[in-house]
Amino acid sequence: MSTLRFHALKQSLDRPPTLVAKEAKQSEIFGANVFGFKTMRQFLTKEALNSLMLAINKGDKINRPIADQIASSMKDWAMAKGVTHYTHWFQPLTGATAEKHDAFFETLGNGESLERFEGNQLVQQEPDASSFPNGGIRNTFEARGYTAWDPTSPAFIFGTTLCIPTVFVAYTGEALDYKTPLLRALNAVDHAATDVARYFDKTVKKVTASLGWEQEYFLIDKALVASRPDIEMTGRTLLGHSSAKDQQLDDHYFGTIPARALNFMRDLETESMLLGIPVKTRHNEVAPNQFELAPIYEEANLAVDHNSLVMDVMQKVADRHHFKVLFHEKPFAGVNGSGKHNNWSLSTDTGINLLAPGKTPMSNLQFLTFFVNTIKAVHDNEELLRASIASATNDHRLGANEAPPAIMSVFIGAQLSKVLHELEGVTKGKLSPEEKTDLKLNVVGKIPEILLDNTDRNRTSSFAFTGNKFEFRAVGSTANCANPMTVLNSIVARQLIDFKSEADALIATKGLKKDEAIFNVLREYIKTSRNILFEGNGYGDDWQAEAEKRGLSNNKNTPEALKIKIDPKTIALYEGLNVMNKVEIEARYEIEIEEYVHIIQIEGRTLGDIARNHVIPTAVKYQNILIDNVKGLKDIFGKDFKKYASEQLVLIADISQRIEAINSGVTTMTNARKKANTVKDTTKKAAIYCNQVKPLFDDIRYHCDKLELLIDDELWPLAKYRELLFTK
Ligand code: ADP
Ligand code: MG
Repeated sequence: MSTLRFHALKQSLDRPPTLVAKEAKQSEIFGANVFGFKTMRQFLTKEALNSLMLAINKGDKINRPIADQIASSMKDWAMAKGVTHYTHWFQPLTGATAEKHDAFFETLGNGESLERFEGNQLVQQEPDASSFPNGGIRNTFEARGYTAWDPTSPAFIFGTTLCIPTVFVAYTGEALDYKTPLLRALNAVDHAATDVARYFDKTVKKVTASLGWEQEYFLIDKALVASRPDIEMTGRTLLGHSSAKDQQLDDHYFGTIPARALNFMRDLETESMLLGIPVKTRHNEVAPNQFELAPIYEEANLAVDHNSLVMDVMQKVADRHHFKVLFHEKPFAGVNGSGKHNNWSLSTDTGINLLAPGKTPMSNLQFLTFFVNTIKAVHDNEELLRASIASATNDHRLGANEAPPAIMSVFIGAQLSKVLHELEGVTKGKLSPEEKTDLKLNVVGKIPEILLDNTDRNRTSSFAFTGNKFEFRAVGSTANCANPMTVLNSIVARQLIDFKSEADALIATKGLKKDEAIFNVLREYIKTSRNILFEGNGYGDDWQAEAEKRGLSNNKNTPEALKIKIDPKTIALYEGLNVMNKVEIEARYEIEIEEYVHIIQIEGRTLGDIARNHVIPTAVKYQNILIDNVKGLKDIFGKDFKKYASEQLVLIADISQRIEAINSGVTTMTNARKKANTVKDTTKKAAIYCNQVKPLFDDIRYHCDKLELLIDDELWPLAKYRELLFTK
């Protein structure tokens, strides 16, 4: 083992688990660092509290004097907890979170000073944001961007900073972040779903979309990561021979959590609890050193913020425990990758989950209405849904025979398939009393019973119904959930609006009763969206062929997948719902396609660097040792030496050939990159990076990995898969 690797490994093996302070009862610390309802009631005047609640629940405006009151109370609360700074916290289109801290501290000019935080500082800020990606929006309009307070996501304290969740928009009004379109989509789905829910219950006033994410990640010792420039630069290993053992024995999944990792998790849970993030589940995942963290689900906007926040907190807590968290979708070739399942549902302000079957036939008809409409929405927009989770990093997962394929399909289980099949047979127009009774008793009425024993769970489906929610499984572990959540809630909103107007038309023009109209529309939807339903093995080759026959898209890489994002159909969808306008849509496309290019570019450069500056020099060193050995043998044995040096000679030749292959591979790849960089059009450039640059990585890696097997372990400078994956 090389000295470098030895020290890294020794450091990590020698580390005792970092001690974690005795844990407080979680329910006692939950939300302690959040300016939530309990704190608000304690710190705000009645007037300010009422105004803030109206802003949160109805989107009402908060006037200036009230904003001053709220800001001042927030400051008092925060300062009592040792806070000195505040920041507007937002999610620019880099996907990460952004913050710029300002002190409460101010001087008064007469030598005196005080701590101040006023309404205008709470409500709006202008970050010097010229270097956030904007897809040309701000250049085109020469406008600046500002951040504006989002009262629906509560302020929180991290470290000694008061963080205020905000949206980030250009002065010309275009969204420059992930949150703004999400809030608009959630608003659209609220209105559309409330209208439909009122068919069943006139008292419903609001429908909320919920999100429960499941975050997968790898936890790798920091010292080992430091020996891997590829992980440092790209978040994944660009080379490395697979280890003799990885996950074949299935011995890690749900196994005992290693002590160091467990201490990290406990520490992380405490931090999460303080921040009001209701983390609930922790367990080992399929691959060695892979884990999962999942919270109790929340309102979608808050859940998105909490996921972004927790990813940030995880990295900070990991640092304390000498770990690095790898969020990359595929950090290690040949072992399981990481995803972030998005569990999604809709529920009313009367406490009803619209995707859960109820106790009466009428509530089950409501369930079926939302269930079938969601399926139809996915059917009609499968390509856009696929695009919502497209990224250079997720490309390694989708379709790579472990994660859901790049084909979107909906799994609903055998029982519900049967229900839909029966609904397909409902008579057109008015229903006879006998048919109604039959539907009530034998189809709709049976749903709660059948769901109870509906235990079939298909793990290979990209979008699966799991009893009282849908689970979007194709989301990548690095993703900001706002992206898929914006698409999902938008397409369902569009679908529910169309459904309502079709059903209303049948009631008005054909004189159908409400439930007859609903049955009639659902029947047609089931027929037209049948192609998206798939109960089989999503990983199989048969499905690829079958999906093609069905006309489903199968966009295997990001440049292909993103195209639909600027399709006229997509623009019409978003503009119709006021989720995004054409400028915002095109800007996002531009940013995402550019990001794709950058990622492949960085990977290419890093791979070239490691191959030339780490692998080849090591190979040469080892080859020289062999050459010396052969020379020595020749001295001893004279012309007979070949008999004793045959293996060495083969090795020497093999190493030379591999060095030559790596060198020419890197040259070819560098030239392909240079050529791609001359292309101005980003869409074309991305396609070239995808089809002509990226494929060249494989051959370089292949020879590097072969050398890893040949070369003396003592010389090899990069931590090996065995060490990265099995050091606990
Ligand atoms: P899995 O088998 O995929 O791990 P779990 O049942 O453990 O599924 O996790 C389900 C996730 O779904 C949890 O994060 C949970 O909070 C979330 N969830 C449960 N009900 C809802 C709902 N109504 N809306 C959104 N998410 C939900
Ligand atoms: Mg899941």
